[in-house]
Amino acid sequence: MSLGGHENPLGLPGRSKRSSGLPVRQRIPGVGKVLLVSSGKGGVGKSTMSVNLALAMSQLGQRVGILDADVFGPSLPTLVNLSGEPRINSKGQLIPLVNYGVQTMSMGYLIKQDNPVVWRGLMVMKAMQQLLFEVAWDNVDVLVVDMPPGTGDTQLSIGQQVKIDGSIIVSTPQDIALIDAVKGVSMFEKMRIPILGLVQNMAYYHCPNCHHEDHIFGPIDGAIKMAEKKGLRTLGSIPLNSEICAQSDKGKPIVLNKEHTQVSKPYFDISKEVLQLLKL
Ligand code: ADP
Repeated sequence: MSLGGHENPLGLPGRSKRSSGLPVRQRIPGVGKVLLVSSGKGGVGKSTMSVNLALAMSQLGQRVGILDADVFGPSLPTLVNLSGEPRINSKGQLIPLVNYGVQTMSMGYLIKQDNPVVWRGLMVMKAMQQLLFEVAWDNVDVLVVDMPPGTGDTQLSIGQQVKIDGSIIVSTPQDIALIDAVKGVSMFEKMRIPILGLVQNMAYYHCPNCHHEDHIFGPIDGAIKMAEKKGLRTLGSIPLNSEICAQSDKGKPIVLNKEHTQVSKPYFDISKEVLQLLKL
């Protein structure tokens, strides 16, 4: 998507500069389209969403990569049941770890999980540079980037340096989550990052035994109304379901074997719509 001459609307320092002195947004080597999955706050299920959408897209025939851009709390290794240090190729690039047919990269592979690093600003920037531009993605059609929550430095840094084809905002239906989601939407709009739409997670409780639906967080249309107000599309709603959580904890995301169940179907429907919007 053309960003119409707004390559660096916030005028922030970047990785490379044009002759005018403004940074240029770059393509990630080995990657076709870049899709950001973002949320206004943590704990709304953004990482679970990123991984399930990525694995659904892979089952729909795309070559998919997942980049875990949350250097502070990387959860991708657990979600895709991978661990161990990535090897480095002759060009000095990190070689992605692969499971379920999907290429993955996360800071979680490079640091010991029970040994948290005290990150300083510069270290975060350096780590992000490496994760963004020094990974040997192998001919990926779509790279799903699991963003850290909120509207901080990492979001700014990715937004200013990378050519982004689309973004999805994940929110739960509660007002408190939606307020933060709106902040995320405003930030992306300011940065001219194309927003494909909003996904409502934990939209209602789905009982795996009797299949009863209960709207425990209030009316299901909260996020939909917010999206409408902001002129955004609602891409779909995922129920709160204990199987989604249990499967994630096992490192076997729910979409892996259950395309046609009531719980995993919405992930496939959202993935199909996103692929269409990305022209894939
Ligand atoms: P975030 O990335 O926004 O911090 P996570 O994806 O880590 O959130 O999810 C937080 C917790 O909620 C995890 O334990 C995850 O398994 C669980 N979870 C996410 N989505 C759902 C869902 N739709 N139903 C039930 N549990 C979910």
